[in-house]
Amino acid sequence: MSKHKPFKIAVIPGDGIGREVMPEGLRALQAAAARFDIALELTHIDWASCDYYLAHGQMMPADWKAQLQGMDAILFGAVGWPATVPDHISLWGSLLKFRREFDQYINLRPVRLFEGVPCPLAGRQPGEIDFFVVRENTEGEYTNLGGRLFEGTERELVVQESVFTRHGTERVLRYAFELARARARKQLTVATKSNGIAISMPWWDERAAEMAQAYPEVAVDKQHIDILCARFVLQPQRFDVVVASNLFGDILSDLGPACTGTIGLAPSANLNPERSYPSLFEPVHGSAPDIYGKNIANPVAMIWSAALLLDFLGCRPAHDAMLAAIEQVLAHGPRTPDLGGSASTTEMGCAIAELIAG
Ligand code: ATP
Ligand code: MG
Repeated sequence: MSKHKPFKIAVIPGDGIGREVMPEGLRALQAAAARFDIALELTHIDWASCDYYLAHGQMMPADWKAQLQGMDAILFGAVGWPATVPDHISLWGSLLKFRREFDQYINLRPVRLFEGVPCPLAGRQPGEIDFFVVRENTEGEYTNLGGRLFEGTERELVVQESVFTRHGTERVLRYAFELARARARKQLTVATKSNGIAISMPWWDERAAEMAQAYPEVAVDKQHIDILCARFVLQPQRFDVVVASNLFGDILSDLGPACTGTIGLAPSANLNPERSYPSLFEPVHGSAPDIYGKNIANPVAMIWSAALLLDFLGCRPAHDAMLAAIEQVLAHGPRTPDLGGSASTTEMGCAIAELIAG
């Protein structure tokens, strides 16, 4: 018998290969739960999918928020089926609503080099690259503030504002400092561009410097986004935790996995760290209509997302066992066709789950 109240998890497969990789995510999650004595209460949800939209004219029921509010976390597959529902409807009608309404202000992306995954950077050893990108997920450069003036004339101009609030900036920095402090290397890189963006970025740097006072054990390193991108490619081993504004974080959170060849394997977590609302864990890849129905989708991003979910809920050993199993299977197979193998989604998922079960 487990010692804690069951974690309530909403399971939303969504569309396309989301439905094929979700069973593997659950298989792995349940194997970890059994081994580490973690109680789970799963609620399976068929909305937030394009099929639901076609039947009901909306992506989610009116009371979606009430249905999800009491959950500890949401495990999400993928959304989108552009042949029948335009992406802006499926995305804005589901995932982006979760992000906003549940104040998931951290977007967390692990970057890790695995044996068996072709790495575009020459000469890197597995284990050498292992860091997190922490992206601010609610404000910054992504706003709808601004406009166009004098359209079609010589004087035409366009303004797009950024918004940085003290609350929004301090909370993402605090999360990143806490994460860095909890890790072995205790290094935090703060992305900036205060030499070019002369109002908001110096202010961002000041907030980081101020917060650093409270974390004397964390080594802080401020880097301009341009050289930071170069160092992701040239010296990725030097990073531990990297924190960035919405735009810079968006770029870094694709560049990081790209440097390790894992963009198709990448998981992501959209977090409300205070747990006032459920956090959401999902593969970075989409619904992949081109391969749906063949049982060949790679389940690693889904399983890794489930591992991040357990870590977030405080089950670090379960997370580590899941990662170790992923590492083993990537190195020795079975592998799905995207990695040059011939295994099915189910075969790869079962192999990972078996190793997790121990
Ligand atoms: P988004 O959801 O961001 O719009 P997208 O629709 O552009 O993404 P994906 O659905 O991720 O893109 O698919 C991009 C390509 O990667 C496709 O060719 C797809 O088959 C492939 N792909 C995506 N996920 C996987 C996976 N898990 N395993 C194997 N191939 C994948
Ligand atoms: Mg898509």
